[in-house]
Amino acid sequence: MFLPVSSPRGGALRAPQDPPGLLGQTVLRWLTHRATVVSAQSLTPRFRLVTLRATAFGQSDWANGDKVQVRAAGMSFRTYTPFRLDGDRDVVHLLGYVHGTAPGAQWLRRAARGDTCDVMGPRRSVSLDAVPDSATFFGDETSMGLAVALGHAVHRLVFEANDPDEGRHALAAVAPETANAARFIERNTDDSHLAHAEALLDERPAAPLHHVLSGKASSIQRLRRHLVARGAQPARIVSKVYWAPGKNGLD
Ligand SMILES: Cc1cc2nc3c(=O)[nH]c(=O)nc-3n(C[C@H](O)[C@H](O)[C@H](O)COP(=O)(O)OP(=O)(O)OC[C@H]3O[C@@H](n4cnc5c(N)ncnc54)[C@H](O)[C@@H]3O)c2cc1C
Repeated sequence: MFLPVSSPRGGALRAPQDPPGLLGQTVLRWLTHRATVVSAQSLTPRFRLVTLRATAFGQSDWANGDKVQVRAAGMSFRTYTPFRLDGDRDVVHLLGYVHGTAPGAQWLRRAARGDTCDVMGPRRSVSLDAVPDSATFFGDETSMGLAVALGHAVHRLVFEANDPDEGRHALAAVAPETANAARFIERNTDDSHLAHAEALLDERPAAPLHHVLSGKASSIQRLRRHLVARGAQPARIVSKVYWAPGKNGLD
């Protein structure tokens, strides 16, 4: 059972502003806009629900699957997928996975109500518009926002996760129906669990379906190869790498 943990407040626990130098600040003025953290809450030990408001969000043309990029430290930005818009479309909700102590994870961990942050976006990322209701979805802890953004009924959702119970709990907190429909598989270091993911995606013939793959690079590559070998048309596979071991801030 995972209990919500209150947001850290004040002092050294606040999200670092870490202002860049003069040149950096000029660049930021051109590229970014200011967002305010409306709320930030721990749904489980490693999943944070962060809600941001920015006037610029409300003036933007949003599409499902769009990304926003948050300045996490210095001039380093990290990417997240809003899964819901509220207010006058100026409020976005992000589900973030706190995987360690890297800048994005630190920003997620420390974000607290009233903080401000520099953001870019929305920007197009995974185009879900052409994906019909008969799609399959594969992802991991970082892809839950995308799965919820997909919105319409996906015939099968499979997530690999370090802790399947924790993943399910976090997803259920923001999208109970999606969590009910999803299968969670525990990640093994040797990736042997992906055979189970392949079997789950195989429960209906791959060929007529669309497929959305996101999350860890090597998992996506393997599942893509598998789906194509099973007859899926490459044009019907939408894939987006969200992270890869040893790479920083992909995107
Ligand atoms: C378009 C797009 C949308 C995304 N949407 C979301 C989202 O909604 N929610 C979300 O949580 N993430 C999302 N991500 C993934 C997130 O941006 C990455 O996980 C990012 O690397 C986190 O930044 P960081 O500073 O914490 O780690 P980085 O500094 O980027 O990485 C440091 C190291 O940590 C490891 N690492 C990175 N991510 C993970 C992970 N998830 N699990 C385990 N190890 C990891 C890698 O080995 C990496 O070398 C998205 C990514 C993209 C490209």
